[in-house]
Amino acid sequence: MSYIDNVLSGVIARNPAQPEFIQAVDEVLNSLRPVIDANSKYQDLNLIERIVEPERQIIFRVPWVDDNGKVQVNRGYRVQFNSAIGPYKGGLRFHPSVNLGIIKFLGFEQIFKNSLTGLPIGGGKGGSDFDPKGKSDREVMAFCQSFMTELCKYIGADVDVPAGDIGVGGREIGFLYGQYKRITGLYEGVLTGKGLTYGGSLARTEATGFGLIYIVEEMLKNAGNSLEGKTVTISGSGNVALYACKKAQEKGAKVVTLSDSNGWIYDKNGIDFEAAREIKEVKRGRIKEYLEYHKDAEYHEGKGVWTVPCDVALPCATQNELNEEDAKTLVKNGCIAVGEGANMPSTKEAIDVFLESKILFAPAKAANAGGVATSALEMSQNSQRLSWTFEEVDAKLNGIMVNIYKEMADAAKEYGMENNFVAGANIAGFRKVADAMLAQGIV
Ligand code: NDP
Repeated sequence: MSYIDNVLSGVIARNPAQPEFIQAVDEVLNSLRPVIDANSKYQDLNLIERIVEPERQIIFRVPWVDDNGKVQVNRGYRVQFNSAIGPYKGGLRFHPSVNLGIIKFLGFEQIFKNSLTGLPIGGGKGGSDFDPKGKSDREVMAFCQSFMTELCKYIGADVDVPAGDIGVGGREIGFLYGQYKRITGLYEGVLTGKGLTYGGSLARTEATGFGLIYIVEEMLKNAGNSLEGKTVTISGSGNVALYACKKAQEKGAKVVTLSDSNGWIYDKNGIDFEAAREIKEVKRGRIKEYLEYHKDAEYHEGKGVWTVPCDVALPCATQNELNEEDAKTLVKNGCIAVGEGANMPSTKEAIDVFLESKILFAPAKAANAGGVATSALEMSQNSQRLSWTFEEVDAKLNGIMVNIYKEMADAAKEYGMENNFVAGANIAGFRKVADAMLAQGIV
C-alpha cells in the first residue's frame, strides 16, 4: 500500500461518522500523490499523517435562555487545525447541520485556502448547531454571549481570529465581539467581519463574492474569454451569493437564479440585486419574496438551479449541493465555467465530470479565498490602527485573486496536469504549509 493510501485508510478508521471530513481529506491527498512521490522528506517525517490531525479540538456546552424563559442548550466547536504559517483563522458557522465532522472538513480546507492567499494565516473553523433562523435579536444575542463566554478562553488577535460563515453575519459578529471585550477587557482584532464603526474593513462584506468573480474572470481571460454577455446561474442567496451576483452584473453578465434551502427563483430579465439584498439582508426573509418585487419571475420549491442553461455556474450555498447528475446537466447545457463560492459544493463525482469534460473549474479553496484574504487585510488594519479605503481593499483583493489563479495554474502545469485547478490549488496551498512544518520540527 502506498504512503498516501495508508494515511487515508487511517483517517477513515479514526474518524468514523465524519463523511465530509473524509471527503475533503480524500480529495486533497489524492491530488498530492505526485508531490509526495517527488519529495521523500514529507514521507520520512510523516508529514501527511500530522497535517490531517487537528492541533486542537474544543467542544463546549452553550446554554442560553429563549424568549419564553426556557433554557436551551447547543453545542459549540472550535477546531484549531494548523498554525504552521500564522494564527488560526477561519469562520464560525451557526446552522442546525453543524457537527464535528463538518467543522473539521471546513478547518482542513481552510489550511490550504489560507496558504493560497499568500498571507500569514493558519487554518481553523468553528461554530454551533444553533439555528439563528426565526430567532429574535435578543435570543441571538443571548446565544452569542454564552458562546463567546467559553470561546474567549481559546482565541486572541495573535492566537486565533474567527470570522463569519453560514448563519454568522454582521449582527452575530457584533454580539460576539461585545462579549469578548467585556470579558477580556481587550479592544483587539480578535474577530473579522466587524462593523465599520468598531474596526471592520471596508469591502469585507463583499469580499468573498467579489473575489469569486475576480478569479472566474481571470480564468476566462486566460482561455481567451470573459464574463461580458454571459448567462450566470447562482445558488444560495446569502453573503457570498449576493455579492457574486452584484460583481458578475458589473462585469456585464446576466445572473438569472438565486436560491435558499426552500426553493429557487429564475428571472429571465436578470436578478434585481437591490431587491434580493433587501429581502435577505434587511428583512431576513425568504427568496420566494422576490416575486413581490418582480411578478414575472418564477419561483420553484426544492432544488433546481442547475437545470437552467447557463455559461457560468456559481454554487454559493453549501457543501455537496451539486451532484454528478447536476454536473452532467450543466455540461450538456453548454456551461463553460464553474466557480465554487461555497465550500465543497460539488461532490467528488461532480468534480470528475467537470474535469473530464475539460470545462474551466475553479475549486472552492481558491475561488472563495477572497473572504479570508480580506479578513487578513482587516487584521492588518487593526494592527496598524488604520483603515484603508474601499478602493484600496478592493484592489488588494483583486490582486490576491489574480495571484491565486496564477499559483494554481502554475502548480498544475508543473506536475503535467494543465488546467486541473483542483490539483493545482491543493499542491500550491500544501507546499508552503508543509515546508513551514518541516522547518519547525516535530510539533
Ligand atoms: P449565508 O448564511 O449568508 O447564506 C447561506 C445561503 O446558503 C443561504 O441562502 C442559505 O439558505 C443557503 N443554505 C445554507 N445551508 C443550506 C442547505 N443545507 N441547503 C440549501 N441551502 C442552504 O452564508 P454565506 O453566504 O456566508 O456562506 C455560503 C457558503 O460560502 C458556505 O459554504 C460558506 O462556508 C462559504 N464561504 C463563505 C465565506 C464568507 O465570507 N461568508 C467565505 C468563504 C466561503 P437558507 O437561508 O434557507 O438557509
